[in-house]
Amino acid sequence: MASQELIRKLEDTIENIPDFPIPGIQFKDISPVFLDSKLYEEVIADLAAVSKGKVDAVCGIESRGYLFGIAIAVALEIPFILIRKAGKLPPPVISEQYDLEYGSAVIETRQGQIRPGQRILIHDDLLATGGTTEAAAKLVEKQGATVAQFSFLIGLKDLKGEEKLKKFNAEVYHILEY
Ligand code: AMP
Repeated sequence: MASQELIRKLEDTIENIPDFPIPGIQFKDISPVFLDSKLYEEVIADLAAVSKGKVDAVCGIESRGYLFGIAIAVALEIPFILIRKAGKLPPPVISEQYDLEYGSAVIETRQGQIRPGQRILIHDDLLATGGTTEAAAKLVEKQGATVAQFSFLIGLKDLKGEEKLKKFNAEVYHILEY
């Protein structure tokens, strides 16, 4: 969907920081995108076009998933729902635990904001191992809704995150792949 020009501009803008936050990680820093409001607009237009007519609400994953997710929802004139790390949202919440490389984490959403039967877009800036996104999708299903799409600016191919998402039978879209 994204034009070659948008892909090239993003490749030139997103910075790769080797060995951050720990040795061995190639950290993709999206913050330079926000220095260029025109580029940001083009990214939102692309992500919104991909989801137009296919979803009823957007769930964004804390915190970089909010930077684009809210703008996608506004462009499509549909609700935006926050998925946050445990303990940040007031009760009542729905929680989902998932495994990290060491230990585990919990994400939450306010109960009742995702409505039964809704087709949901789950959005985050980047798909790595897919652990966080998979947990978000389980939260959506716990509320009786369906994951219709996943969207990301970036997919990291080698980490095979897409395989974890296959079971949800939803479209997976990313503008760039490394
Ligand atoms: P995962 O659960 O492994 O798919 O991790 C996804 C989350 O971690 C996303 O919200 C990303 O913001 C962040 N993340 C993971 N790997 C990277 C990376 N190489 N560069 C930037 N952010 C990353």
